[in-house]
Amino acid sequence: MSARNILVINCGSSSIKFALVNEAQSSFPLQGLAERLGSPEAVIHFENASGKESLQVPDADHQAALAQILPRVEAAAGGHLDGIGHRVVHGGEKFFASTLLNAETLAGIEANVQLAPLHNPANLSGIQAAMSLFPSLPQVGVFDTAFHQSMPEHAYRYAVPEFLYTQHGVRRYGFHGTSHRYVSKRAAELADLPANNSSWLVAHLGNGCSTCAVVNGHSRDTSMGLTPLEGLVMGTRSGDVDPSLHNFLANTLGWDLAKIDSMLNKESGLKGLSGLSNDMRTITEAREAGHPGATLAFEVFCYRLAKSLASMACALEQLDGLVFTGGIGENAAVVRARTLDHLKLLGFKIDAEANARCVRGVAGEIQAAGSPRILVVPTNEERQIALDTLALLDA
Ligand code: ADP
Repeated sequence: MSARNILVINCGSSSIKFALVNEAQSSFPLQGLAERLGSPEAVIHFENASGKESLQVPDADHQAALAQILPRVEAAAGGHLDGIGHRVVHGGEKFFASTLLNAETLAGIEANVQLAPLHNPANLSGIQAAMSLFPSLPQVGVFDTAFHQSMPEHAYRYAVPEFLYTQHGVRRYGFHGTSHRYVSKRAAELADLPANNSSWLVAHLGNGCSTCAVVNGHSRDTSMGLTPLEGLVMGTRSGDVDPSLHNFLANTLGWDLAKIDSMLNKESGLKGLSGLSNDMRTITEAREAGHPGATLAFEVFCYRLAKSLASMACALEQLDGLVFTGGIGENAAVVRARTLDHLKLLGFKIDAEANARCVRGVAGEIQAAGSPRILVVPTNEERQIALDTLALLDA
């Protein structure tokens, strides 16, 4: 059988990220991004081994953009596509693994719209467009939340009245599951340990950030909750605050819930603390130049990350290693070093030279002698989504 081709699609409200994954090739034959969909500036960027190209598609919606993307994907796949894998943000309690998409599973995703009112409708519109353009191709949904469905009840329940959970689904779900699953398995491979008999702490640090405790290939706890706002300091998200902050802001400033929610999601995190940027590259550069806001944002980010990792350790009986991934985790050696300064009690010691070497896609171990393993592992959610799609095609 020749190597199979899977198209991976990640639809946002006005964007589509896509990648063609060939099971025998480590790089993607074609990938790209459609952005500003639904506006006169809608554009699709394509990238392959011979370069980049952009196509203006004024006022294109998801379906119109996919209609432009799919023929190019088919051509790049040598005329034969085997399936499509869709990233879906929220699977609620219904989806604990990736699933073939059909009328029944689509209704299940629809039922979770209330839990992810911005994301799931965008994911659904991509799925519906792809299904109408390619009705005979198998399509698979891969959920950000599914990996965390193995959390025990003491980790996923909030201490609020029970009916809020039983009648309204108020509990911790966690996100970034596809990345935590992929990198914890890769870490086990790199360390030559069985994934089903090893325990990891994982820090996924991108624009969104979360930690996870992974035991024998299963999530046992994670820092994000009902929504991706809980937990760590992120690019523009506050992470944990006192829940009474809402009341305080309403009473003192007269803010309504929408304004508070928007501030916590879009104006906080690195951006809010630094007054400068949500981007860790800018923060680390400004910190080196002595910018007080950037220095504070960096320090709060690293301390809160360390605190979260220490609390995740409660879910482990042994520790085989700590894994850094995501744009910050894979590139910002200074963030890794500063975070580990706060975790000496867990025995972590970093090797400065190895730490500096593991950037820009280089994977490796960066601990000093006598420390538990510390690994840098580039994430690859697209490949994991393609692997899940292939596994369901084989089943
Ligand atoms: P997303 O969550 O959107 O997939 P990424 O995983 O690409 O995001 O991570 C984006 C973050 O990674 C940004 O904060 C960016 O500044 C940071 N980043 C990327 N490269 C570097 C670098 N060399 N040094 C520090 N931070 C970096």
